[in-house]
Amino acid sequence: MERLHPPAAVLEIADKLEDAGFEAWCVGGAIRDAILGHSHLDWDLATSATPSEIRTLFGERRTIPIGIEFGTVGVLDRAGGMHEVTTFRRDVKADGRHAEVEFGVSLEDDLARRDFTINAIAYSPRLREVRDPFGGRDDIARRLVRAVGDPDARMREDRLRALRAIRFAARFEFAIDATTLAAIRASAPFLGRLSPERVKQELDKTMEQVRLPSRALAVWRDTGAFETLIPPVGTISAERMAAPDFIGVPNRAKPARRAIRFAALLSELPANEVATILSSLRSSRQELQAVSTMVDRWHALGDEIARALAADAPPSDAQVRRWVAAIGRLTVGAFMRAANGVWRARAQKGLEAPTAIAVRALYRRMLRSAFHDAIDLGSLAIDGDDLRRAGIPAGPGLGKILNALLATVIEDPSRNTTDWLLHEGKRLHADA
Ligand code: ATP
Ligand code: MG
Repeated sequence: MERLHPPAAVLEIADKLEDAGFEAWCVGGAIRDAILGHSHLDWDLATSATPSEIRTLFGERRTIPIGIEFGTVGVLDRAGGMHEVTTFRRDVKADGRHAEVEFGVSLEDDLARRDFTINAIAYSPRLREVRDPFGGRDDIARRLVRAVGDPDARMREDRLRALRAIRFAARFEFAIDATTLAAIRASAPFLGRLSPERVKQELDKTMEQVRLPSRALAVWRDTGAFETLIPPVGTISAERMAAPDFIGVPNRAKPARRAIRFAALLSELPANEVATILSSLRSSRQELQAVSTMVDRWHALGDEIARALAADAPPSDAQVRRWVAAIGRLTVGAFMRAANGVWRARAQKGLEAPTAIAVRALYRRMLRSAFHDAIDLGSLAIDGDDLRRAGIPAGPGLGKILNALLATVIEDPSRNTTDWLLHEGKRLHADA
């Protein structure tokens, strides 16, 4: 077990528990990832100490009761980093959504309540010993996601496990064991019992952690998970489901990339339907806004941009400015990354799409334009006050004039001078 090297801060916490006569085991994702040779930031500990014993041992000031009812106490290390320490527990009642837990059980009981064999491996730094009662290491070697115990029963206890299995399989590019997969299929009609927040969190983690999200999305579709949870997403073409695969590399700390991946995936649906879906999933207002804006702009401009990029001559500067103005200065980078995902996925399926080189060239021109060109009202050399001082009354007419002036400046930036704009503004007013 060469690769099992918990960080010093975790070893220290484990030592303190052991010295006080309790068992302390590293469990869950960190062990799985270490065996896989991946790094993992959170080394969770499982212990025979009860939550109050943990708090007494480390003191109130070093502990945070993050999930006392589930037996989880956060223990702070010297640097202020928090580590989850959870009392060995067993689920006594589960209704597919909530679990009631019992403490005072053994490590074996604790491992038995975990979802998949790859997540049910424990390592004791004190004993330098691995406990792997369900063959998790073999399954890692065979690249297999397999439920601990009876898959049907485990999925009935907590329906989220169906979605977790799909995510882990896609993330590690593992297969799903046949009986576990059958249990996921059987679970699909009951996924509606899950809270929207938990469903969204699974989708979020899929978009954040998985290199090729289409592997997970296809299983969501094929097992009927989408049909139960978000029916319109189940109808998205295979080609569009592959679009997120072409957007970025996995990085947990990038919510922006997640939104871009969602936008690419959902771009086949109307923008208002996208907003409805995200709102039903309790998406943040910010994400809902960002994604549905990108989808809306995609419907307005996607085909036009693709056609222009297929032409012999590159788009004119004025054309690039028009697009940037329509998409929005701050949205244009994300929009183009989403659009490129869609186009790359199309190209891979042999469908018509602009080349990666053409898209990259346009992307650079658009970003430059977004930074330098006058493409919104704020960058005009005059504002509404100037027009009013020139005798144009406030009101919708004035707004129209400003927008008309902006449109002419987008066509010809040399017109963005106070003199020309005031003169032209007055002319437009007189004509109106
Ligand atoms: P990630 O890298 O996504 O955080 P993880 O394995 O650490 O992966 P967590 O959701 O953080 O996953 O959960 C930590 C551990 O708790 C899991 O490895 C698993 O042993 C157990 N666990 C989490 N959720 C469940 C569940 N729904 N049912 C059973 N066990 C679970
Ligand atoms: Mg984790």
